[in-house]
Amino acid sequence: MGRTFFITTLGCPKNVADSRQMHRSLLREGYEPADSPYTADYHLINSCSFIESAREETIQTVLEGADIKKEHTGQKLVLVGCFAQRYETAVREELPEVDLSFGTGLYHRTGEILTEKFGAPALHNPLEPSVFSGMEYGGEPYAPVKLSEGCDRKCAFCAIPSFRGSFRSRDENEILEEIRELTASGVREAYLVSQDTNAFGGNPQKILDLIARMHEIPDLHWIRILYMYPDARTRRFLEGWDPQALPKLVPYLESPVQHASARVLKAMNRAGNREQFAELFALAREKVPGLEIRTSLLLGFPGETAADIDEVHAFLDECKPEKLALFAYSPEEGTSGFSLSGMPDENSTADMINEVRDHHLSLLKDIHLARENQVYECMVDEISPDGMVVRRKQDAPEVDEVIHIDAAEAGVLPNWSELVPGDLVSARVTGFFEYDMSGELLGLATPTGRGGSVGDAATVTGGSHSGSEEASR
Ligand code: SF4
Repeated sequence: MGRTFFITTLGCPKNVADSRQMHRSLLREGYEPADSPYTADYHLINSCSFIESAREETIQTVLEGADIKKEHTGQKLVLVGCFAQRYETAVREELPEVDLSFGTGLYHRTGEILTEKFGAPALHNPLEPSVFSGMEYGGEPYAPVKLSEGCDRKCAFCAIPSFRGSFRSRDENEILEEIRELTASGVREAYLVSQDTNAFGGNPQKILDLIARMHEIPDLHWIRILYMYPDARTRRFLEGWDPQALPKLVPYLESPVQHASARVLKAMNRAGNREQFAELFALAREKVPGLEIRTSLLLGFPGETAADIDEVHAFLDECKPEKLALFAYSPEEGTSGFSLSGMPDENSTADMINEVRDHHLSLLKDIHLARENQVYECMVDEISPDGMVVRRKQDAPEVDEVIHIDAAEAGVLPNWSELVPGDLVSARVTGFFEYDMSGELLGLATPTGRGGSVGDAATVTGGSHSGSEEASR
């Protein structure tokens, strides 16, 4: 049996962080990364089971993995993560293509588990590059970092606590060590994820203290915090957030409200109401200049009425979140919502979602208009002979807007093509599409530490502005 592996990751950024833990465990045990599942001896699928569509995607991916396995004699297919944990018996009985499956608590032991099951990996050939040459993860300048595992809340629609277990904070030193390793491999933005971020350390001040310690890591440019449950703990976090003292913490709040009607939120067993969310988001914008907000809404919960949807529209008008994720409710086995009656018709929920999306797009147009001609500090995400893709501090990787700068608009820096992902630049927004923007490069935002060879011609000092804050109110 060979020793190469490939990990296919499904689901949310938390799964991306878990896959990285699997990757590290496999490297430690002597396994080596392969370029694709077609060339790997072990194909690991890190699964998701959050909602129906995620489960279907997992099953589809396993079936595709089974086809790949047929073409690669001896390959082992390994199913890991939420789906494997939740449907352990069904995986064993109904997916015979899967050679090994295990749940969410064992990511850090992936290498040992493979060795226990299939025998030791073949010895490393010293003439080949070191196994640790594969430590770079994907090459993106950003990476999710987990703060905790599990969740003690009991949202009526969510089965996550049933298979991720109760809430446990991660050791601070381990988190910092992981970020140091990531920055050594080129990562410049760490975004902090978990099921319930504001519960870290049992006190919001602990998160601020941890973020302060992250500021001591020299090559880490940006820190972003995700999944802040909209309650009193997030309010205390915001009250303690001093942007001057924590300049690497980007002006961004991701706080999923899930609904705006107090009645539906109560039925969902969630905290808050429209007025409280408006206060929380106003506090965030007041404390942190230029801050932008991402939230999510789950529509079609049992008992939801047209009046509840009116509350959602009023919430959008009041809070004007710059980014919005919309989901349709699907009943999950093992949750308190599963047996509730009065679920709105599927088609009417789809119509509601379209209406809410159109409403948000109309708000986004004004938000975009206010961003035009503004100058932002941005991170280079991608670079090619045709130009580059950069991202503002106010936009999270993979999910939010980016700015496209074509080669002609980058010419202010004669050697712009020598920039690398993770470099900071200053860019002006010149236009927008439905979500993304177009822009022009103005120069470097901060020294890149590479002798100024790229930016000498037109180095400028960047810095995000508060124009978008005013526009979004
Ligand atoms: S906070 Fe609610 S939705 Fe989020 S993981 Fe916990 S139970 Fe699920």
